[in-house]
This record gives sequence, C-alpha cells and structure tokens, in this order.
Amino acid sequence: MTRRLTLALPSKGRLREPAWALLEASGVDPQEPGERVLQSHCRNADIDLLFVRADDVPEYVQDGIVDCGITGLDLVAERQSDVEVLLRLGFGKCSLQAAVAFEDDATGLDDLRGRRIATSHPAITGAALAERGIDAEIVRVGGAVEISPRLGLADAIVDLVSTGSTLRTNGLRAIGTLFDSEAVLVGRTGSDDLAGRKLLTTVLGSVTNARANRYLLCNVAKDRLAEVTAILPTRGSPTVMDLATPGVVAVHALVPAADIWSLLPELEARGASSILTLPVERMMP
Ligand code: AMP
Repeated sequence: MTRRLTLALPSKGRLREPAWALLEASGVDPQEPGERVLQSHCRNADIDLLFVRADDVPEYVQDGIVDCGITGLDLVAERQSDVEVLLRLGFGKCSLQAAVAFEDDATGLDDLRGRRIATSHPAITGAALAERGIDAEIVRVGGAVEISPRLGLADAIVDLVSTGSTLRTNGLRAIGTLFDSEAVLVGRTGSDDLAGRKLLTTVLGSVTNARANRYLLCNVAKDRLAEVTAILPTRGSPTVMDLATPGVVAVHALVPAADIWSLLPELEARGASSILTLPVERMMP
C-alpha cells in the first residue's frame, strides 16, 4: 500500500483562503474540514491535510510531523527552519520593510545605524542588517509593530508590507526592503524521493504557472503578421492558422498576464482585430 502524503495548510489568517483555492484548482479535491476540525483529506489524491497556524508549518515540516506544508517564506526564514522550498506559489506577496516616522531624517537602511528597531521578525532583520554591516539594537515585539515609534519603544520598525497603507495610517514612511516574501510549498529536507511529493509540486506548479499567463487570440492580415508576432512576449513560437477569409490569419499565443494591458493597444495599432484573452487552467513547460 502506498503511504499517503501529509500536507499542512494554514488554518487561519491571510494565507488560508488562497492556499485552499490553490488546492481546489489543482484538482485533488480537498474535503472541507468541519468546524474546529484539524484534519481532512483529498478525495482525488493520496493526500491527508492538517490545518495548523502558518507560523507553525515550518516546524511541523522540519520535524517530520507532516511531509509538506504551505506557509510564508518570511516564516520559514524567521524560524530558520531546515526545510526545502519546493515551489513559490505567487500569492501572499509582501516585503519586510524598514520604516520611520514621517518627520524622521532617515532616508535609507544605512541611517538605522545605532538606532532601536522594533520588529516581530528579529532573525531576518538581524541577518539582513549584519549583511550590510549595520549595527542596530533590535527590540522583539509580538504584534502592533507599527505603533512602537509612537510609544517611544523604538526609532524605527521592520514589518511586513504589501500595499503600504498600514504604514501611512500610522504616520510611517518606508526607507528600505530587507526581505521579499510570498507563500511557498515546503518539504522536509532530504525527502525528495517521497511518494507523491514530486507529483504535488508538479500539479501545484502547473496551476501557479497558468495563473501567471493568458491565452491570447487575435486575427491579423497576413501582410502584417510579422509586425504582430515581433511584439508578442511569448516564449516559444505562436500558432498561426489560416482563416476562411483569404489573406487573414488567426494568431494564438501564451503571454504573461502582467503584459496584457500594455500589449492590447500595441496589437490594435498593428491591425490586429477580434482580440481575445482567456485564462489558462494548467500549464506545464
Ligand atoms: P497571518 O498572520 O496568519 O495572517 O499570515 C501572515 C503571513 O501572511 C505572513 O507571514 C506573510 O507570509 C503573509 N502576508 C502577506 N501579506 C502580508 C501583509 N501585508 N502583512 C502581513 N503578512 C502578510
């Protein structure tokens, strides 16, 4: 009998919903856990699920309580956990930034020299500052980091930022990035031969890859085809097909989702018409 793979998922917080949505999109058919139930399973794959706090996932994986887990890269780094990052998942993106009060003179990380910095990420902060030869006093706080300067607890903070609105609301200004984070799939170090782990990584990867791309279709006159294909930001070759109307072809290509907004007017300017973009469900290189 094959051993079932165990996967830890965030039980609450901002990574919970997107982690669950990714698993659903992957087709493994995860069974929704009941209220306050910590375990569940997948109907379509030999995977058991364990719901724990995102902060605890790195340790559960490191200690072999589970085979794999989904958590934030910042949490893996902060815990200094001995786990392998198997896949970046493209959600939960944020960065650990240093910030000071609006009226402070500091303009960059170098200006933190000799100052007191409040953070709930002391390990990453200490390592990132040491790497830059910056000596500062780090004050560990559990939460509400952004009010520390106002309380007189610190001169600066290092905290996770995605839009920057929390910093602004608290009268703070970012002066530098120490670490970039996103949700990751992690596995126990040295367990790469584990049944199902490679498959899970491949299946989740096919979804995260697909999400970052769009399938583009457009029609173009044959004599302008070269102009259109020249600006397509596609890896590999686009598909070109004759249409029933003579002298016109259909062009199909996979393009990065982030490029679509700037690409559409460029295509129109080169005579492309009937332009469609479609989401992609799965994509394997
Ligand atoms: P939780 O505290 O359970 O809501 O999850 C926090 C995790 O979500 C962090 O460790 C990051 O990996 C991720 N995250 C993404 N954006 C942010 C943000 N703006 N603030 C805090 N955490 C974020």
